Parts: sequence; C-alpha cells; structure tokens
Amino acid sequence: MQQCPYCHSPHVQLLRRSQQSQPKTHLTFSTCSPMSLATVGMQLSKKFKINPLLGGLIGLVAGGMFLLYIQQQDNLITLHYQCEQCQEHFDIQHAESI
Ligand SMILES: [Zn+2]
Repeated sequence: MQQCPYCHSPHVQLLRRSQQSQPKTHLTFSTCSPMSLATVGMQLSKKFKINPLLGGLIGLVAGGMFLLYIQQQDNLITLHYQCEQCQEHFDIQHAESI
C-alpha cells in the first residue's frame, strides 16, 4: 500500500499508470550483442576443443537471455497517485519485469 510523501496518509488514489521502456540498452547491444557473444563462444570452444557451432549456440543463448534480463529491468512503470487527504499529486516509479 502506498503512502502520501507529504502527509503520510495511506489514503491515496491511483490515477493512472504509464509504462516506459528505457532505451539505455543500446550500449549493451553494441558491446555485447548476441552475435558478438556467439563469436566469443566459438573462440572459446576452439580453445577448449569443443564443437565451434555448439560454443556459438551457447554464446547466442546466453546473450539472448542476458538481453532479455536487461530489457525486463528497463521496463519502467510510473504510477500516478493523488492523496485524498492533502490533494497532493505524486509519482512512484519502479521497474517491472514482464
Ligand atoms: Zn497527503
């Protein structure tokens, strides 16, 4: 249950919620995209003498899961509340996974 940050009343009303995907993943995309992780996986598999395709696949899957995790973290939910007691408006932001 939310509380008013002004008068600390628990009687707050949820007006609306907005959702926003933060574009900060573009850094992650360029530095460790699934394809570059697949390349790393292939190089590692050569080193450890396992099938390069298998290594590439592992890198690709690991990279995909990593990006999925990052994207979930970046999904930002903003809840807009109004206090019933002092009529002040306030926003609560939190990241939500899909
Ligand atoms: Zn209040």
